[in-house]
Amino acid sequence: MQDYYIVDDGKTQLLKFKKLEEFKDKVELAFSLKTYNNGFKYEIKDDVHEDVRLTKFNNISKSLNIDKRKIILPKQEHTDNIRIIKEKDIIVSKINCTQKDNKDNLDNIDSNLVTNLFYQLRDVDGLITNVKGAILATTFSDCTPLFFYDPIMNVIGNIHSGWVGTTKKIGQKAVDILVNQMDCNPKNILCFIGPHIRKDHFLVNDDVKNIFENTFLDICKKYNIIEETNLINEKGKQYRIDTTLINKIMIEERGILEKNIFDCNLCTVCNKDMFHSRRAEGIDYEVNTGIMYLK
Ligand SMILES: [Zn+2]
Repeated sequence: MQDYYIVDDGKTQLLKFKKLEEFKDKVELAFSLKTYNNGFKYEIKDDVHEDVRLTKFNNISKSLNIDKRKIILPKQEHTDNIRIIKEKDIIVSKINCTQKDNKDNLDNIDSNLVTNLFYQLRDVDGLITNVKGAILATTFSDCTPLFFYDPIMNVIGNIHSGWVGTTKKIGQKAVDILVNQMDCNPKNILCFIGPHIRKDHFLVNDDVKNIFENTFLDICKKYNIIEETNLINEKGKQYRIDTTLINKIMIEERGILEKNIFDCNLCTVCNKDMFHSRRAEGIDYEVNTGIMYLK
């Protein structure tokens, strides 16, 4: 049975998880598809793309009926840094909004505000909150999206776990924060895994393979994580790595129940018509957005 469905309103196509239907009055989680041109380039050092980014958020925020000014978008850098978004972060956005309300061009108010939040959250690859209306956004193109929701404590987490983040165990760190700082019981936490590059397409050379082997010694012994292939590229022999399985095992090690992990089972490379993919698109790749918030 498919864990996800896709909503198409003529402005965006958004992937949602069936499990969250039962909590639809409390939480929203949506992952954007590349259709309707809703991706954008993620070039953190290039302001030129700010406008592109913000135009793209217009459609997503209209489809979800949310205030674009409350979107909290970190500057992701493949770290394992996770920020807890508090009420004061939302107040900051309100102040920024009021200051700029005097300006004539309303469109610019939104743009400037999102830009401010974007640059405030440097080197952050995960967001956690229990504040209603804090709209947590992260972007992906092949990296693994891990979304968490505890319906008892009403806490959410939106985590970017690329292969580097996976080796830094950012998923485990997210669960640790949910449990130790947000008072969640791991048995209540639901985890949703969005579209990302899967084992068949995640080909790496010795350098990356060795990092995984050394980081996940025990997991590699027990499970079929690393698979040798007959493929060779300019850097030598290639291996396939199952980052999906590593992420699942890591969060289960922290007490998340297998039955509470909902994986859309979609590969971004296999489904490059639906999602942006760095591997499939090359250097001009664009990104998909994962948005999560409490209502
Ligand atoms: Zn694939």
